[in-house]
Amino acid sequence: MQKIVCDTLIDALYVLPIAPENRAFKNFSVCLQRDRIEAIGPSHEVLAKYAPEQHLRFPDGILTPGLINAHGHAAMTLLRGAGEDMLLEPWLRQRIWPLESQLVNPEFVEAGVELAIAEMLGRGTTTFVDMYFFPEVAAQVASRSNMRTVLAFPIFDGTNSWARGVEECFRLGFALHDAVRGNPLVNVAFGPHAPYSVSRRTLERIRMYSDELDLPIHIHLHETAAEVAAAHEKEGRSWIAVLDEIGLLNPQLQAVHMTTVTPTEIERFAEAGAHVIHCPGSNMKLADGICPVTAMEAAGINVAIGTDGGASNNSLDVLHDGRLASLLAKIDASRADAGAARDSLRKITLGGARALGREEDLGSIEPGKLADLAVFTPASIASLPLYDPFAALLHNGSAWRAHSVWVGGVQSLTNGVPAHIDVDAMNARLKTQIGRVEAILQKS
Ligand SMILES: [Zn+2]
Repeated sequence: MQKIVCDTLIDALYVLPIAPENRAFKNFSVCLQRDRIEAIGPSHEVLAKYAPEQHLRFPDGILTPGLINAHGHAAMTLLRGAGEDMLLEPWLRQRIWPLESQLVNPEFVEAGVELAIAEMLGRGTTTFVDMYFFPEVAAQVASRSNMRTVLAFPIFDGTNSWARGVEECFRLGFALHDAVRGNPLVNVAFGPHAPYSVSRRTLERIRMYSDELDLPIHIHLHETAAEVAAAHEKEGRSWIAVLDEIGLLNPQLQAVHMTTVTPTEIERFAEAGAHVIHCPGSNMKLADGICPVTAMEAAGINVAIGTDGGASNNSLDVLHDGRLASLLAKIDASRADAGAARDSLRKITLGGARALGREEDLGSIEPGKLADLAVFTPASIASLPLYDPFAALLHNGSAWRAHSVWVGGVQSLTNGVPAHIDVDAMNARLKTQIGRVEAILQKS
């Protein structure tokens, strides 16, 4: 029988395809053709059928779908460590927003996003959702780095570093949407910061535009109990109730944080098909509260995981947030079987893909899906023994390193090094921008 020619064949000790079956398959191989996954199966069967141009062997490696970091502010990686041990409200108002007003410009965003992408690729991430100023700059950096991104362009009623008021946010956001049409790596979403920083009228317009353009809406929602209490004082009901009235509870909604929710709100979210983005690292660090993920999933809500920005986590390692999600779920539900490692890995792959409305293309290793993949190899002796590859990656991730990453069939990380980032140029840009941040921190 004549073999079928394919671009790349990857052998791994374990393949974790996530779907249709979420379990570990030993001595499996995955075959890539152009930007898609062509086949997956036992290595001897795939090798008998395909003749690859490139054959990569990872006899001690674990192959997973590329990880999806479903919430963050990539450029804020430059503010990592610049505001520590503070509650959300003073952290934002006294620390982060004043720093941003002096620092944020296109060069700051370019350097910060590039650092974030290098870090995320180095931990197996292939898609990140970003909510930050100058998203057109993030689009360029992601494209040239061969990284997939969803840019939730920021919408505030007031003036910010990027736009003078809400009209300009919409104008620049729509221009970005037009500019990236046909770019396979970049998608756009609406990024209203939060219901307390965007007016009801603006939220109503976002709902209308989202329906017209079929674009998702990414918003910080019910991040703290104080935020919800303020909503009751101002509006006489929660922000979730306000969004529901506007018609924003629908499958396009990606609600980030959700630490303070009632059982009725959980039911309503499930019924509406809205998605929750859980950011356990940021929520714990800012003492926000605990997103009741186990109850949400039992009600049928899809949950994805995000790291949030480098200023509030301080790591963009979404595997680590997967671990935190797992541990927190056990404590929150008082059940050791809550937050199983394989469920956490599903949240940071297929859960993310569903939240982004990209389940057809992303989130699992299945023929026909885009070839977004990560191979993890042992980084230390602590990787031994390997009985359960899900537990290895989730609960002992520091013993494993992302060796290789593909985005759309193109290799973006090779032997731990970003393949399309000029590291010297990146370091020069970082030196300049870190110098600007340090100059301000020294004065304060
Ligand atoms: Zn955030």
